[in-house]
Amino acid sequence: MDFSDYKGIYVIAEVRDGKVEKVTGELLGQARKLAEKTGDPVEAVILGSGVKERAQDLIAYGADVVYVMESPLLAHYDGMAYEKELGALLKEKKPSAILFAATPYGRDLAPRIASAVVCGVTADVTELSVDEKTGLIVWSRPAMGGNIMADIISPQYRPQVGTVRPSTFDLPEADASRKGSVVEVPVTLTEKDLGTILKEIIPAPKEENPIEEAQIIVAGGRGIHSEEEWAQLHELADLLGGSVGASRPICELGWEPHSAQIGQTGKSVAPHIYFAFGISGAMQHICGVKADIMIAVNRDKNAPIMEMADYAVTADLKDFLPAFIAEVKKIQEK
Ligand SMILES: Cc1cc2nc3c(=O)[nH]c(=O)nc-3n(C[C@H](O)[C@H](O)[C@H](O)COP(=O)(O)OP(=O)(O)OC[C@H]3O[C@@H](n4cnc5c(N)ncnc54)[C@H](O)[C@@H]3O)c2cc1C
Repeated sequence: MDFSDYKGIYVIAEVRDGKVEKVTGELLGQARKLAEKTGDPVEAVILGSGVKERAQDLIAYGADVVYVMESPLLAHYDGMAYEKELGALLKEKKPSAILFAATPYGRDLAPRIASAVVCGVTADVTELSVDEKTGLIVWSRPAMGGNIMADIISPQYRPQVGTVRPSTFDLPEADASRKGSVVEVPVTLTEKDLGTILKEIIPAPKEENPIEEAQIIVAGGRGIHSEEEWAQLHELADLLGGSVGASRPICELGWEPHSAQIGQTGKSVAPHIYFAFGISGAMQHICGVKADIMIAVNRDKNAPIMEMADYAVTADLKDFLPAFIAEVKKIQEK
């Protein structure tokens, strides 16, 4: 395999309700950082119906070239149809690397494309870098039940492909004045190529205050010992205008839905302030947290989270939570 034929760090864009998803901006920001080291251009592909107008958004986030694949048959995600069109484009273009978001869409599409271009996929990546000696992209992700971080490289095949967790990387500032080229790619799809017939879309019930959008997260773990005590987290989150998050054992107890779980098998979050009440700081939890300020309260001063936190309070939550809530109320009443 002659690697010199393979050029460009590609990002496969996601569009929902006519808008580019935030994670696509995050991926473009990372692609730019990688490209600065490898010398590749950053290229993006956008598929759908009525998506051409969104190409400039991708340029604003860092794409040099945007390939647009427009067809009413691409209006809704269909694995077989998307694989056919995108697979053909990528086989022809020969990217050096392809970044998908680790969303339901990206998780379905990435292995299909990897099979089309005959390479592997690193799933659920949380760190990206370039090996200075080899120029290979290093895709890092929790492995062995989250107990280690594994660095995965692809020394023998191109393209290098991975899915990257949303909210793991910062969203770069969009620069509307950035220039790039937009290339319209003819779509050859017919109805026969569709793997599914879409009859109706039933939207999932809208989550109230989803944690992935929250600036303040009041999260709790097994250090909270009853549902009555747990209700105090909701009270505090309401007072602070935040959302409640949880470690896995709490969701397993059914005190919070799975949508509130943070970590390796839950969501990645990036709030301004993250309260960790009675959370030990297991790697499988912490790998999903990227906060500007972390405040941990734990009765064990040696719990791993106490090292990671910006502010660590050694206290029993039984005493701490009611006192803290009363103090917040006092300040807010002033
Ligand atoms: C493959 C795999 C995937 C996983 N995915 C996830 C995931 O996505 N998210 C996740 O969270 N976990 C996940 N886990 C589980 C993870 O390994 C930990 O077991 C879990 O995060 C621990 O939750 P915790 O911190 O609430 O509980 P614990 O580890 O039991 O910690 C409880 C903490 O509360 C403190 N405490 C106890 N009582 C009090 C009190 N009265 N006052 C103050 N502090 C108190 C204790 O000192 C302790 O530090 C996963 C595990 C595996 C194997």
